[in-house]
Amino acid sequence: MNRREWLQSGLGAMAMLATARTRGDEPVDESDPAPLLAKMGPMMEKVQVVATELAPGLHVVQGPGGNIAVLDGPDGLTVVDSGVPMRAKEVFETIQRAGGKPVERLINTHWHFDHAGGNEVFARAGATIFATSATRQRLSTDQYTAAFKFTTKALPSIARPTVTSDDLELYVGDHSLHLIAVPPAHTDGDLIVHFPTLDVIHTGDLFSKGFYPNIDASSRGWIGGMVAAADQLLKIAGPKTRIIPGHGQVGTREDLAAARKMLATVQDRLARMLDSGKSLREAIDARPTADLDPAWGKGLFTGPMFTRIAFDGLAQHRGGKAG
Ligand SMILES: [Zn+2]
Repeated sequence: MNRREWLQSGLGAMAMLATARTRGDEPVDESDPAPLLAKMGPMMEKVQVVATELAPGLHVVQGPGGNIAVLDGPDGLTVVDSGVPMRAKEVFETIQRAGGKPVERLINTHWHFDHAGGNEVFARAGATIFATSATRQRLSTDQYTAAFKFTTKALPSIARPTVTSDDLELYVGDHSLHLIAVPPAHTDGDLIVHFPTLDVIHTGDLFSKGFYPNIDASSRGWIGGMVAAADQLLKIAGPKTRIIPGHGQVGTREDLAAARKMLATVQDRLARMLDSGKSLREAIDARPTADLDPAWGKGLFTGPMFTRIAFDGLAQHRGGKAG
């Protein structure tokens, strides 16, 4: 597979996971995403790390974790997300080769291990790490993710963000980066990174092109927040904006609008089920995403898995408001 094909297929570890899932290895409860996690480690060991130039001076590094953006600047490289811990050195070396300079700054779009797992390697090489204060807080303590029945250990203090902000302009040579926090959506610390001079946006996991996204209810994520974040992104994006999602291939404003529509549709259906007192099991068994699954259910999550995590997050969000 050449680079173009890789970008077009664009799913990396996600695609391998989906393939594994369809090889007759189904979990007992088909709506339970937790068994996927056991497969993620070995998958993430294997996937190739590939750097591609997206715009002059801006590379995208794809492979075992979340998509990474690398901006060249006069004083060094500015990097968005650091990938998975088990491939951190290799990813870091690929970034240095693509950019040819030391990494000066690292921005975490959120705390998940496939986006911030390489932080320690970057920090030890001298990078200053930026994130929201919510992301710093989560990276500083152990995090239990109920959907995957998995605990992510706190990062050592050197690997934690040292600059926190919910709205920050960074100027790097001729370019600027706008870091914009959004209210809880995928997690409660999501950051959009906008490169206005290059007409590029890195969305972290606020956007996935063509497949159901993860929504981390254990980190206060919920589907209504995902819809609101998509609306905010649609305001920033223009007709020619290249949108780097957390995973998968680079998309357009149209792809983002399609994802927003899917999310709003699912939110509406699940909200009505909650209103009528349906339980999680009843919601899953009613297959509320059946018509959407052929288009959106071929990534990390099937329709029933997405129904489970979206319903959970919506119920928890309502519960939090009521309490
Ligand atoms: Zn994530």
